[in-house]
Amino acid sequence: MTNKKYVYLFTEGNAKMRNLLGGKGANLAEMTNLGIPVPQGFTVSTEACIKYHDDGKSISKDIILQINDALTELEKITGKSFGISDNPLLLSVRSGARVSMPGMMDTILNLGLNDITVEKIAKLTNNIRFAYDSYRRFIQMFSDVVMGIEKRKFEDLIDRVKEEKGVKIDTELDENDLRKLVIQFKELYIKEIGNPFPEDPRQQLIEAVSAVFRSWNNPRAIVYRRLNDIPGEWGTGVNVQSMVFGNMGNTSGTGVAFTRNPATGENKIFGEYLINAQGEDVVAGIRTPQPITKLKEDSPKCYDEFINIAHKLENHYKDIQDMEFTIEQGKLYFLQTRNGKRTAQAALKIAVDMVNEGSITKEEAILKVEPRQLETLLHPAFDLDEIKRAAAIAKGLPASPGAACGKIYFTAEEAKKHHEKGEKVILVRLETSPEDIEGMIAAEGILTVRGGMTSHAAVVARGMGTCCVAGCGKISINEEKKLLKADGKSYNEGDYVSLDGSTGNVYGEAIKTTVPTISGNFEIFMKWADQIKKLQVRTNADTPSEAKEAIKFGAKGIGLCRTEHMFFEADRIPAVREMIVASTAEQRKKALDKLLPMQKKDFIGIYEAMEGNPVTIRFLDPPLHEFLPSEEEDIRALAKEMGISFEELKTTIASLHEFNPMMGHRGCRLTVSYPEIAEMQTTAIIEAAIEVNKKKGFNIVPEIMIPLVAEIKELKFVKDIVVKTANQVIEKSEEKLKYSVGTMIEIPRAALTADEIAKEAEFFSFGTNDLTQMTFGFSRDDAGKFLNDYYENKIYEFDPFEKLDQVGVGKLVKMAVELGRKTRPDIHLGICGEHGGDPSSVEFCHATGLDYVSCSPFRVPLARLASAQAQVKNPR
Ligand code: ADP
Ligand code: MG
Ligand code: MG
Repeated sequence: MTNKKYVYLFTEGNAKMRNLLGGKGANLAEMTNLGIPVPQGFTVSTEACIKYHDDGKSISKDIILQINDALTELEKITGKSFGISDNPLLLSVRSGARVSMPGMMDTILNLGLNDITVEKIAKLTNNIRFAYDSYRRFIQMFSDVVMGIEKRKFEDLIDRVKEEKGVKIDTELDENDLRKLVIQFKELYIKEIGNPFPEDPRQQLIEAVSAVFRSWNNPRAIVYRRLNDIPGEWGTGVNVQSMVFGNMGNTSGTGVAFTRNPATGENKIFGEYLINAQGEDVVAGIRTPQPITKLKEDSPKCYDEFINIAHKLENHYKDIQDMEFTIEQGKLYFLQTRNGKRTAQAALKIAVDMVNEGSITKEEAILKVEPRQLETLLHPAFDLDEIKRAAAIAKGLPASPGAACGKIYFTAEEAKKHHEKGEKVILVRLETSPEDIEGMIAAEGILTVRGGMTSHAAVVARGMGTCCVAGCGKISINEEKKLLKADGKSYNEGDYVSLDGSTGNVYGEAIKTTVPTISGNFEIFMKWADQIKKLQVRTNADTPSEAKEAIKFGAKGIGLCRTEHMFFEADRIPAVREMIVASTAEQRKKALDKLLPMQKKDFIGIYEAMEGNPVTIRFLDPPLHEFLPSEEEDIRALAKEMGISFEELKTTIASLHEFNPMMGHRGCRLTVSYPEIAEMQTTAIIEAAIEVNKKKGFNIVPEIMIPLVAEIKELKFVKDIVVKTANQVIEKSEEKLKYSVGTMIEIPRAALTADEIAKEAEFFSFGTNDLTQMTFGFSRDDAGKFLNDYYENKIYEFDPFEKLDQVGVGKLVKMAVELGRKTRPDIHLGICGEHGGDPSSVEFCHATGLDYVSCSPFRVPLARLASAQAQVKNPR
């Protein structure tokens, strides 16, 4: 029997094996195949990670044996040996999932060092300082990543030694300082852990590999996965690679670079590097790095080689590359390449440029922009007049574009807390680290004092599309006193600051922000998306201004116009209340007569705004208690208006109380009790359409949608009222008008009997908010309180109200589609829940064969792109 293979040498893999080897591992193998200088090594597969967790967090003997075999191969390739020897092999241990999860899982460098090998390395390189610098870094990283000892505790020890010596930067520490630090680090280790630091390299390796596997399930990784739709079952790979050293003196260095500018998309190499440095030094913001162009002066040979390889990689992957490299004593090595994260602006420019350069097709270009990212382009920019008058108090690096205005907070916790209270917040940090992730998500903008364009803050902010100004050395902050100082002025926690992520400007005041339009590359790109997509995109809009906005963003109609929102306005609510509490049909009729002209006016406005595109109008739906007066003053006024006593009205209101209004007297049930409501709404819808068609020369075919249907007879009852009323109105007008009547599918029983329902319904619109609520049996308004416990216990991985539950709710949708089409082959099908604006749900709707999705105006471009991507990936 042959054992399953869990460990692959870089020479055994390739880019197509991403699922098995993780992105980093697959690309290291691919670069090896391309003949690019990569320090050799091997990848422990993602399947090994899953097995590790299945086996109760332990690495099986079999996997350990395979790792040992790979080590033997690596020793042969490198001519070094792992463990005690005159030429010790040192390793890096690096995580790498299928998609990159920046900063989520940490790398361990220089593994294999111990009190003996450190001396060997010192002798071999004739550089004691280097050997001990590497050793102290290893102890630090191992302690942090594997044992969970806080990084800060080590940094404090370093700071103390620097202070004693009166020096400022790490490179000013000499070999004796570093020897001293190694001893102190080990003492700290014993104090924290209770055991001495492990000296056996093989033990170090296995513990490091296990730690990477464990980190797949750390809370930060789980939050990131939920945010980015990454399933927990993917697991992470672990890359074990021979070390190269960027910290061997002034002909060594390390850096990161992009083949194009990730902020603007400009077709020009963009990067940073540091001389005599290792690993995360560049991104940690400890020292300020040099631009990559400086390498041309420092080492023209390395620079040329670097540029050549960079171009080769971009041509090979047909996408902007984000590369990590290290130079060891004048010799260049590539440590990583991946498709670069970029801002939405850059993504669009790169996609359009690459099509124009002839290197990719429009279909390929469509796949190069993340739908979610487009939202950032629709986010605010500064009001031009206000920004002209404002004076910047400081300028940092323009790390992630956009405009942000909010109150400043100095810790992730505070930022998160105040965001939850509804404040707009700006997170201000010296530099950010992965622990800050939730505060960064909560923030409108992020401001850091230290760090470059590739610092943690910059990378993560760009990924999230959040405005960020990084490396703003002109400000100083005091976290304890919650104070920011800039330009001679002080700003306290809670004071307003505005950030311009495109220029790096920081303003010490609130500046109004405005919404941008779709133009330039964005417009060109969206045209391509529209040419490709099959699933149409409509919008959910209740007012003419929302409808206009959505048209601007490319909506091809309204999929859901909720009529109740129109009723909440101050001048209408009295009439609505009158209608609800009416005890006779006559009273109700009187109230409805007041509402009719108002509703008709609303619909005229919406039809006109939609410029002849289709409009689906849903009948009154919500639980009535939302409209009932609760203040005594309001009740008195209403009683007077209706000519009844205060007591009588109070009793009526009390009798309308429901224990579970979400499942109460709402939707079509209202019309079953009070047909007058449907009569009024139908009249308004039809009269408005006739008027607008006549005035504007449109050919509007109103789509009347009946909500909350569970039973065919119920639908027929309401539809009969609609048809009778509509036909009367049309006849009276002596004009011609077509209209259609359909239903929402939002109660499981409707989905289960969709073949019946389709006998009456000319269209279905899946109301996946209620359908999710009713299928799971928990309310959208209450689920927030306990869903977190479900994520933590890995029962659910995402919020089913945001991302459609394809397994359960999706099954009902598919079933209803099939049943509906069986009865009525040309039945028109759409979805109008929040899911219409979620990319993976859009993909599902495409695959299920719906005709359109409908989402909020701001998500329309996102849905158009997601729809085009679905067609490219899975043509229908
Ligand atoms: P991340 O996913 O956070 O970027 P990496 O695994 O890429 O983590 O490691 C971070 C950094 O560690 C790399 O950019 C590189 O500078 C350094 N590093 C990783 N492996 C090696 C190695 N074999 N030799 C030298 N440096 C390495
Ligand atoms: Mg990292
Ligand atoms: Mg990396």
